[in-house]
Amino acid sequence: MSRSACDRRACLRRAVAMGAALLSSRGTWPRAPAAEAGGRAAAPHGPFVDVHTHVGRTWNGDPPLTSEALVRWMDEHHVAKAVVLPLVSPESSSYLNLTEQALAAAARFPDRLVPFCCIDPRTSYVRGRAGLRAMVKEYVDQGAKGFGEHKAGLPIDHPKMRALYEVCDDLHLPVLFHMDEQRGMDQPGLPGLERVLKAFPNVPFIGHGPGFWASISGDVTARDMGGYPKGPVRPGGALDRLFQACPNLWGDLSAGSGAGALARDRRFGQAFLVRRADRLLFGTDYLKPGQDVPQFELLASFDLPPEVRARIERENAAKLLGLKV
Ligand SMILES: [Zn+2]
Repeated sequence: MSRSACDRRACLRRAVAMGAALLSSRGTWPRAPAAEAGGRAAAPHGPFVDVHTHVGRTWNGDPPLTSEALVRWMDEHHVAKAVVLPLVSPESSSYLNLTEQALAAAARFPDRLVPFCCIDPRTSYVRGRAGLRAMVKEYVDQGAKGFGEHKAGLPIDHPKMRALYEVCDDLHLPVLFHMDEQRGMDQPGLPGLERVLKAFPNVPFIGHGPGFWASISGDVTARDMGGYPKGPVRPGGALDRLFQACPNLWGDLSAGSGAGALARDRRFGQAFLVRRADRLLFGTDYLKPGQDVPQFELLASFDLPPEVRARIERENAAKLLGLKV
């Protein structure tokens, strides 16, 4: 989740105008129109699977987002399905969003919303690993398809974090994690994430947040990992190295951090999208009514082979989460 890139309402109005002609009834979504004679598509591609949304109240000062409003926004933007992520760690946002809220939203819109579950690694529990497993299993039995948004104030490879990865391994759950300077922390070069990826090769880890996406560049600093670095991407970044070495690493393109990683150096971004097309997932981090989301127009602005676009927009997520789109 990021507050950046959330307040450009002009862009939203444009997107809504584009989507207005495409409004559909709940439960279905419109097909993307083909590119018009002028060469520009009336809707920027899709249908999309959005791997990163929230419902409820998140940041103080922002209005809550209901599941109805989320689905309405999805209809307007050609989003077929969206993952709803709880936020349960005190560092994760101003207000907590419990797994129960994500499950309730998905129960209301079962064809459109995909619930994840989350437990803070510092939560008290009894019966050790078996007790923790039973807690997560209860959510899986209710329909949770993954674990996250894992956004706790601990290093990414902290023993308490690893305890949860072990449970996710056992229950075959992908883990969507946030990384910055105060949540899911790591060092430049991502040695902690590398240890985790190699210790749990069967767990798909979906990276998100400033610390993750700043690591696209070889010159990343500890300061960059808490921010939104701009300018040319230097070769030798940890992300390309880890995508190459670890088939269980995935990338969530949501929020200002994901958009910024592609937009800061468009030539690199274009090649990166093609090179990592089998592991990148469309996402927005939509969390409040009226939020500006740069991902639609940004992705549409790259010249991608149709099969690459289809993978990033929906097919990778559908495969990873077992969804029909
Ligand atoms: Zn988020």
